[in-house]
Amino acid sequence: MAGIKMENQIYEVGIYCRLSKDDGTDNESASIATQKSILTDYVKKQGWHLVKTYVDDGYSGTNFQRPSFQNMIKDIENGRINCVVTKDLSRLGRNYLDCGLYLEVFFPENNVRYIAVNDGVDTLNKSAMDITPFRNILNEMYSADVSVKIKSAYRARFQQGKFMGTYAPYGYVKDPADHNHLLIDDKVAHVVREIFDLALAGNGIAKIRKHINKQHVLRPAAYAAEQGAAGYERHFEDNEENRYIWSENSIRGILRSPIYAGNLAGYKRIAANMKSKKRPSKLPEEWEVIPNTHEGIVTQEEFDTVQQLMTSRRREQNAGGFENIFSGVIKCADCGYAMRASSANRRKRPDIIDCIQYSCNNYGRYGNIMCTAHSIEARDLFNAVLADINRFADMAVNDEKAVRAIEKRLTETDQSRAKALEKERKKLNKRLAELDRLFSSLYEDKVMERITERNFEMMSGKYQKEQLEIETRLKEVTETLNDSYEKSQGVRDFLSLIRNYQGLKELDATVINALIDKILVSEREKMADGTVQQEIKIYYKFIGFVGELHITPTKRWTALKPKNCTVCGVEYVPRSGISKYCPECRERIRKAQGTETKRRSRERNRQVCIELSAKNDRLIWNSGQEERCVRAIKIRKLILSGM
Ligand SMILES: [Zn+2]
Ligand SMILES: [Zn+2]
Repeated sequence: MAGIKMENQIYEVGIYCRLSKDDGTDNESASIATQKSILTDYVKKQGWHLVKTYVDDGYSGTNFQRPSFQNMIKDIENGRINCVVTKDLSRLGRNYLDCGLYLEVFFPENNVRYIAVNDGVDTLNKSAMDITPFRNILNEMYSADVSVKIKSAYRARFQQGKFMGTYAPYGYVKDPADHNHLLIDDKVAHVVREIFDLALAGNGIAKIRKHINKQHVLRPAAYAAEQGAAGYERHFEDNEENRYIWSENSIRGILRSPIYAGNLAGYKRIAANMKSKKRPSKLPEEWEVIPNTHEGIVTQEEFDTVQQLMTSRRREQNAGGFENIFSGVIKCADCGYAMRASSANRRKRPDIIDCIQYSCNNYGRYGNIMCTAHSIEARDLFNAVLADINRFADMAVNDEKAVRAIEKRLTETDQSRAKALEKERKKLNKRLAELDRLFSSLYEDKVMERITERNFEMMSGKYQKEQLEIETRLKEVTETLNDSYEKSQGVRDFLSLIRNYQGLKELDATVINALIDKILVSEREKMADGTVQQEIKIYYKFIGFVGELHITPTKRWTALKPKNCTVCGVEYVPRSGISKYCPECRERIRKAQGTETKRRSRERNRQVCIELSAKNDRLIWNSGQEERCVRAIKIRKLILSGM
């Protein structure tokens, strides 16, 4: 009687739909709309009350970290629904252990009836339930297998020249008649065309970018967002102007993409296995390209020329002759971006380092809306770092007390933390041993048939889960402990290593990388007394930051070799490579030239006045009255302009 009564109960139903890539998109019957209509029908036929439909579109069934699913769990806990209906079991999930947990523990505990319509699963109907564990296993197998299947299906379609991205690339739209085919987007294709034209004219990426930015056109991500693509809007939330700021990467991306010559490009990254999500990118030369899949915005020849130009520019830039020994180490103190080394465009100095200055890359790219220049002469930086290494080395050799103070400060906190971690490690190991014991007695129970197969599966699943969690944590703890021991050792090693650098005269990349983690450069600052100072913070390996340096920045590095004046022959230090005269001679020549220029200009004015007075009787030339002469010139100008 109770069973029949239950059957007639009016349930408060939640419908749950899920779809993801690993379900295969060709299958129309799997679509969210289909799931919804089947389930709504079903609920209506039963005469039950549909409370809410939960949809997770684009979420894999291999875990339960899905927003709508979690909402449904909350609603169950709050008693809003007491029945869950899905199309089949795999909609609920594809992970055996976790799925079982919901089916056999969570739903019964919360008095929730679960029905998978197509699989005939119903937690109220015991005979239908017997098959559930088996179906769960099938689900899991499907999940592992499906990744292989999807990959081969994807490759086959790629080789047929079918475009498979969610959104068309910039400059194209998806053909409404065939979503795997691209058509030129007339609204923005001219921007792509212009970028290629500029590149063909020999412009580098940075120049092209500047040119495009001047035109205030939406950058590709902003344009995509405007066309309704999801996931881009967050880039512009805090800065509306960002929509129009193209990055060098977007320009480079366009120039490198075979799409614009009418070809499909794919497999730009090295394949990853299921576990590792990191996929390093391949060089453009290694991409797989399917030719002539759609209309190009540029011709193949134009595209090839641009590729050649870009590759040769890349080589040129590397052959500058300046070895950037601070590369990867020097950072802007305010925004954290790397600082770039650039030639300061001055007359060639004998030493290349005197032609180079560093400035914030963020400022260099986006200008003063993002950061300020933070310029520092390469020579200033070089000298400051060299001096600091020497100072540190001197201290390490001569001041035993200071060294011990540093060592103590750096290792003390770590030691107390290490103790706590050691304690945790012991506890975890103990629980692991306990789990082993529990599991073996459970297994014994199963062999002696003291528990059912299903209960065994459930319990062993639970133990295995805990075992896995403990092992993960144990690994973390061990790694942290090793790190901390390594660090203490590192501090000691560094303090003895730095002693070797006492009296260092030259810096190179090896020295920098052996000793220094990073160098932060602050903006120049004008002091109260009018002098300019700049702060540099050097973070040493293991030791970290010891004390900031204050340097007086050189405006231009002037250490040129002394020369002899071409006029008086005296030896002097020139300010630029083309200088010819000593300061005194230069001053004299400048003055003389100035007088000469003035004399010539006066002479010209006099000539004009003479000519004019000859033509005009009313104006009489008076050699002493410059003023009248100027008036005469003004009048002549008026006459000439027809007034
Ligand atoms: Zn900066
Ligand atoms: Zn001279």
